[in-house]
Amino acid sequence: MALRTIRTEGDPVLTKVCRPVAEITPRIRTLVEDMLDTMYDACGVGLAAPQVGILKRIAVVDVGTEEPEPVILINPEILESSGEQTGDEGCLSVPGKAGTVTRPNYVKVKAFDLDMKEMIYEGEGLKARAFCHEIEHLDGKLYTRLVEGELHDVSYEEEPEDTEGD
Ligand code: ZN
Repeated sequence: MALRTIRTEGDPVLTKVCRPVAEITPRIRTLVEDMLDTMYDACGVGLAAPQVGILKRIAVVDVGTEEPEPVILINPEILESSGEQTGDEGCLSVPGKAGTVTRPNYVKVKAFDLDMKEMIYEGEGLKARAFCHEIEHLDGKLYTRLVEGELHDVSYEEEPEDTEGD
C-alpha cells in the first residue's frame, strides 16, 4: 500500500489512450490498492490509472453512498446511458478548479473485477458522473473540454467535509 503521485493537467500521460488489461497480475493488484489509497488520501470520488502515470484501462470509483463501494473497473465500457444532469465537476488532475458539465444522469457499465469476472454496475447522479469522468480518462480525455463557461476556483478546507455514511 502506497500513495502514488497524481499527474496534473499538462502531463502528456493524461492525453494518451490506455491499453486493456489482459490478466490480473500481482502488479495490477498493487496498482489498484495504491489507486484506492491515493484516491481516499486526496478525498476524490474516482481515480483512473493514467492519473498515476499508468496507461492501463483501470479506474476506481467511490462516491461514498451506494454499495458496492469501492467499484473497481477493469476494461470498463458504458453500455447504456440516459437522462441528463448539469452540475459542478472537478478532477484530482486539475487541482483547485471546478466547472459545469452536463452528463447522463444514469449509466450502465460493464467491467471486469480483480478476478477478471465480468460485472455490471449501474450509477445515477454523482456515481454516473464519476463513471463517465473516469472512463473518459482511459481515452485520454479530461473533463475540462466539456466545461460550459469558465473553470472556477474552489477552496478546499483543511479538513475534508465528507459526509460519510457511518
Ligand atoms: Zn479526473
